[in-house]
Amino acid sequence: IHRGYGSSYGQKGNWLMAMADDCLRSRAIRLEGKVALVTGGASGIGESIARLFIEHGAKICIVDVQDELGQQVSQRLGGDPHAYYFHCDVTVEDDVRRAVDFTAEKYGTIDIMVNNAGITGDKVIDIRDADFNEFKKVFDINVNGVFLGMKHAARIMIPKMKGSIVSLASVSSVIAGAGPHGYTGAKHAVVGLTKSVAAELGRHGIRVNCVSPYAVPTRLSMPYLPESEMQEDALRGFLTFVRSNANLKGVDLMPNDVAEAVLYLATDESKYVSGLNLVIDGGFSIANHTLQVFE
Ligand code: NAD
Repeated sequence: IHRGYGSSYGQKGNWLMAMADDCLRSRAIRLEGKVALVTGGASGIGESIARLFIEHGAKICIVDVQDELGQQVSQRLGGDPHAYYFHCDVTVEDDVRRAVDFTAEKYGTIDIMVNNAGITGDKVIDIRDADFNEFKKVFDINVNGVFLGMKHAARIMIPKMKGSIVSLASVSSVIAGAGPHGYTGAKHAVVGLTKSVAAELGRHGIRVNCVSPYAVPTRLSMPYLPESEMQEDALRGFLTFVRSNANLKGVDLMPNDVAEAVLYLATDESKYVSGLNLVIDGGFSIANHTLQVFE
């Protein structure tokens, strides 16, 4: 229709046609026929990624350890045959192997693996008080879990000579002091793993990237709000605190914004991007916060 409209309206019509094309492109279904597995998909950023992927035509399997929540999310996203929930503790290799096999059997393949499951660990930041078991737990979920996701996704992707693996790192992958020691160390390790596996899997046509968001309001981050900033409305208190520390003013980083970045890395729009740590922090990590000259 818009083409007919354009042809009868001369130059103005061409301009309108270009606008309409842009509009159609921005609303295009970008994951038609693709299959994705999202770890930690029962809440927060993982849930947003799952929802956005479904909106873009993908079939998804979400895995988590919160079974009731995971089932509810998969039902909300349309359930069988578009969205499945599968129990999987990402630190248990057999769980990851079974989740990957379940997804590949249900849908025929896995095109996109999103290693999103993660925890921050205890709030303690004085290293003398840090609990070693807690430190190991953070590494187990945030690093070993990502490694297992990469390993088993690669098993399905290599024979197909294609695939995209996207992992959740954090702004704590590039700066210190934004999270506890275990979290910062683990997120730096996610970047190292991403580069190493990208270097290996390039020859098989598989891209491996990670994203590093600044603070996003979820169950993981909200408890980190300093007590002095706690308000009755937790979300409002969180956003007020985050805004006051952010480099980029006038916008809030929400779970869906992170999902959009993951979507980009999952689609062929990023077909030559591999080994990247896509930092989504509004410039927070590149700004000097103590010696500001731009007043
Ligand atoms: P969230 O707590 O809402 O979601 C994390 C999910 O991972 C939960 O559903 C949880 O049950 C699941 N999970 C935890 N341990 C698991 C395990 N062993 N096996 C399977 N699933 C497990 O938190 P979120 O904020 O959505 O975090 C998602 C990812 O984003 C994490 O990797 C986190 O480090 C990263 N991230 C979050 C923020 C933020 O501010 N929220 C910022 C940067 C990076």
